[in-house]
Amino acid sequence: MELGITGRKAIISGASAGLGEACAIALAREGAEVTIVARTKENIEAAAEKIATLTKSRVIPVAADINTDEGRYAALRACPDPDIIINNSGGPPTGDFRTWDRETWFAALNNNMLGAIFMIRDTIDGMIARRFGRIVNITSSAVKAPISMLGLSNGARSGLTGFIAGLAREVAAHNVTINNLLPGDFETQRQKSYTQDLAKIQKRSYEEMRAIRIAGNPAGRFGRPEEFGAYCAFLCSAQAGFITGQNLLIDGGKYPGTF
Ligand code: NAP
Repeated sequence: MELGITGRKAIISGASAGLGEACAIALAREGAEVTIVARTKENIEAAAEKIATLTKSRVIPVAADINTDEGRYAALRACPDPDIIINNSGGPPTGDFRTWDRETWFAALNNNMLGAIFMIRDTIDGMIARRFGRIVNITSSAVKAPISMLGLSNGARSGLTGFIAGLAREVAAHNVTINNLLPGDFETQRQKSYTQDLAKIQKRSYEEMRAIRIAGNPAGRFGRPEEFGAYCAFLCSAQAGFITGQNLLIDGGKYPGTF
């Protein structure tokens, strides 16, 4: 399927690895001009080179923390009028909520809620004026089914989800869509560190813990980042203009509910 986004300009944050990088690859393959953001300069530059080679396109790397004003402005200087925004950042630490102070909570809210909201605030009116916008927030399956060790994620991402539910309906008439894409378990660095934390708590080896987690997924495996990227690219397509305000789970069937 031709997605109708050739020449569309996209900013993808958290994109030197994992799910963000996969979204950038999928969008670049569809002809979008991608600007990718992550904090570590050498990694984001290496990712830009890799994506450019893979997709035969020009990719702009920005080394910045997307959850700061300076980082967001740097991304917007590199790509001033984006048509597509993929809001993504690292996940918060695991732990027991009894140990989390105000600073810890503020950091999680900044990284997994406010960063996306400020990026949307700074770009959505341009999208409305151009009558095309596609915004995808990478959140987590934790929004639908809380993960006990990840209370910071459960809380902060639910705040973003509630805000988006309202805003998506306000801008839909302008061909601007906003959706949240909820990853289950995907093969990335974040997945490895989460499995390691879980293994420590349950006093198991990493390999044993990983095997248990995989066995617990109806698909019998973790997701591949490229599967996530393909879904994201479709949500950014011309054809997806009637999909908005949705929380779309991609988890191999792990969430046990009927809906
Ligand atoms: P990952 O493999 O750890 O990659 C995270 C990427 O984000 C890296 O490129 C990292 O590079 C960048 N990043 C982190 N903080 C940033 C910041 N403040 N500004 C700009 N870039 C930043 O993570 P992932 O597995 O792709 O996960 C992406 C998101 O989905 C996370 O929020 C994660 O919690 C969530 N999620 C993932 C899974 C899964 O199974 N993988 C499941 C549920 C939810 P730098 O460190 O150099 O900045």
